[in-house]
Amino acid sequence: MSDDESTDRRFETRAIHAGQEPDPETGALMTPIHANSTYEQDGPGDHRGYEYSRTGNPTRSDLEANLADLESGSHARCFSSGMGAINTVLNLLSAGDHVVAGDDVYGGTHRILTQVYEQYDLETTFVDTTDHDAVRDAMRPNTELVWVETPTNPLMNVNDIGALAGIAHENDALCAVDNTFATPYLQRPLEHGADVVCQSLTKYLGGHSDTIGGALIVDDADLDERLGFYQNSVGATPGPFDAFLVLRGTKTLPVRMDRHCENAATLAEWLERHEDVERVYYPGLESHPDHELATEQMDDFGGMLSFEFDGTLEEASTVVSETDVFTLAESLGGVESLIEQPAAMTHAAIPREERVAAGLTDGLIRVSVGIEHVDDMKADLQQAFDAARE
Ligand SMILES: *Cc1c(COP(=O)(O)O)cnc(C)c1O
Repeated sequence: MSDDESTDRRFETRAIHAGQEPDPETGALMTPIHANSTYEQDGPGDHRGYEYSRTGNPTRSDLEANLADLESGSHARCFSSGMGAINTVLNLLSAGDHVVAGDDVYGGTHRILTQVYEQYDLETTFVDTTDHDAVRDAMRPNTELVWVETPTNPLMNVNDIGALAGIAHENDALCAVDNTFATPYLQRPLEHGADVVCQSLTKYLGGHSDTIGGALIVDDADLDERLGFYQNSVGATPGPFDAFLVLRGTKTLPVRMDRHCENAATLAEWLERHEDVERVYYPGLESHPDHELATEQMDDFGGMLSFEFDGTLEEASTVVSETDVFTLAESLGGVESLIEQPAAMTHAAIPREERVAAGLTDGLIRVSVGIEHVDDMKADLQQAFDAARE
């Protein structure tokens, strides 16, 4: 994985041990859930590292140390949601600043940039971030942030982190990468020159669809301090039980991701050969336009894929309603497989013509491939396809 030197521990080992030592007092192996708001001081201001749990909590600290290590950073900050993390990056900017972001970023990212931050005079230009000339053209003297997501949702476009960080830095702007789909096991944006990595811990890092959380990871102590100021000032911090759940999740991230990737690759190949399927979007397929870049930038291709069912909006709705192994639901990254129809759900607000032009056709179906047996997934999709044809 990330380290070839025998002196450096491998990702799988660090996933379990980084940031976590047995409790020196009791020997307890697992980080305790420090359900606690305030901390005894020996004299005014003379504390043992913790004063108040919004500012810092030992369970959260262990998770932050773990995530910093896995993302090849020096510092991490955790939040009560991925959006809380994204908001904190935007707190670094001032009125009159300009942001360049991908035109297919996560819906919540688009919403906060337009419906929340425009009222504070922060303007965003949304561009196709696979088109580097378009990104360069969008840059202005007041551009302070380039926001990148890769792979993107739901068409799994892959963006070149090194190239986009380069464009940002030529303009003295920060480059932030939302690494939620890939996870640090498959891709570490800081190693490619990004300044900030954002994670929705709700997805693969938590991994069990049982908590909401977010994180920002950097490799720069000054930038971390600025983020820490806003983390504490705004207060969207996670409780210790949520931090514990994610810490429990990251221990098995490598084994879960290996199975997610293996199942997704098998399913993608099966769908690509299927007569009821027009097209499959998975960066691991040679037919994917960004396959070569994905091979260079990622260690494997992840558990997310989309495909175009050869049918109407209604027929595709029948497919997603009739599956049983795949649960019809938004979100992703848990051990269980999920299915959704962007045209009728996550992207329904976009006018049809615009939506279809962007590749979000009526028959498009997105799946978060879980870690159940892949043969059960195939059988489940097949019976749902058959039901849609009746
Ligand atoms: C889910 C998600 C978010 C937002 O995270 P929450 O934990 O839901 O607030 C941000 N980016 C991506 C890519 C996501 O999938």
